[in-house]
Amino acid sequence: MPGNIWVLAEHWRGKVSEITFEALALGRDVADQLGSKVEAVLLGHGVKDLASQLGAAARVISTDHEALAEVVPEVYAEALAQLARRERPAAVLTPLSNVTLGVGTLLAAKLGASAINFCKNVRVVDGKIEAHAVLYGGKIETKVAAAAEPVVLGIGPGARLADAGRSAEPPAVVDEVTVDLPEAQPIRFKEFIEPEAGEVDVTQQDVLVAVGRGIGSRDNIALAEELAAALGGVVCGSRPVIDQGWLPPSRQIGKSGMQVKPRLYLALGISGAPEHVEGMRGAELIVAVNTDPAAPIFNVAHYGTTADVLEFLPLLTEQAKALRG
Ligand SMILES: Cc1cc2nc3c(=O)[nH]c(=O)nc-3n(C[C@H](O)[C@H](O)[C@H](O)COP(=O)(O)OP(=O)(O)OC[C@H]3O[C@@H](n4cnc5c(N)ncnc54)[C@H](O)[C@@H]3O)c2cc1C
Repeated sequence: MPGNIWVLAEHWRGKVSEITFEALALGRDVADQLGSKVEAVLLGHGVKDLASQLGAAARVISTDHEALAEVVPEVYAEALAQLARRERPAAVLTPLSNVTLGVGTLLAAKLGASAINFCKNVRVVDGKIEAHAVLYGGKIETKVAAAAEPVVLGIGPGARLADAGRSAEPPAVVDEVTVDLPEAQPIRFKEFIEPEAGEVDVTQQDVLVAVGRGIGSRDNIALAEELAAALGGVVCGSRPVIDQGWLPPSRQIGKSGMQVKPRLYLALGISGAPEHVEGMRGAELIVAVNTDPAAPIFNVAHYGTTADVLEFLPLLTEQAKALRG
């Protein structure tokens, strides 16, 4: 009998994260192909009611412990490792979001298991788990087979539609199990810093005007703000723009920033480094403006122009204002 497929149920401030439902839908597909079951592992403190939302899983393994009140990757990995040693799942799917990023690789190290990160898809080939993974910061996409079981799979956003992993029914079985966690942890949760009031959520925008180092200076951001206002969107940026303090961290797009899927992504003076592209390649329409015709951003852009962004921006804003009346 093949082992079951586990999904770490990520939750944040009392809500199951969308990526958990995506991973559950993917986990169920893999379990079906393997002839086993998908099970959700719910770790936390005072959150066991969330199990009722995880009905896409055949069973929820629920663990309540004070030390799991906040996500500290080392502690979560230890709890998961204790559970996995008991039950021997074939695979553990861990959502790769800002909350649980890092849990999977620590878990694999504890179990001596294979780890495949940044998986876009997972399937079973000749009875073995194979992942379609993004490697080297987005430079390569390839198929990776696990050398041995269990395998820990880091699942990126968008592997499946979240709705496919939702169920109106509660799970058939919820098992409450205990783990033994040491009181003194080498790494402790200190503080959660709320984003500044009034800050926008770039992941929810239809139109993003993204500026890179090519914008030249903090003062020139105002040109992008004006275009964003004309298009009904908001301004965001590449990492150097954030690092220089020209925009707040919540506006950073990319590997160490936000993953966005707007209808329109305007990339202005952005070179298109893999770490940036990782965050925006899912946009419906990408338009790039860059003086360098060899800039890699043109490889992902649907439309592009080799123009000076400082000359191009006011013209585009004028056109956008005229079109909007
Ligand atoms: C672990 C790690 C994580 C990272 N995470 C992120 C991340 O989350 N997000 C991110 O963005 N980066 C990230 N980076 C950094 C990334 O590698 C790049 O350095 C960064 O994306 C480059 O930003 P940029 O395109 O704005 O700047 P540059 O690479 O300097 O490009 C500027 C571009 O502007 C063009 N240009 C210059 N002047 C003009 C002009 N007047 N008009 C038009 N075009 C002009 C140039 O031709 C050039 O292509 C990460 C790096 C590492 C190692």
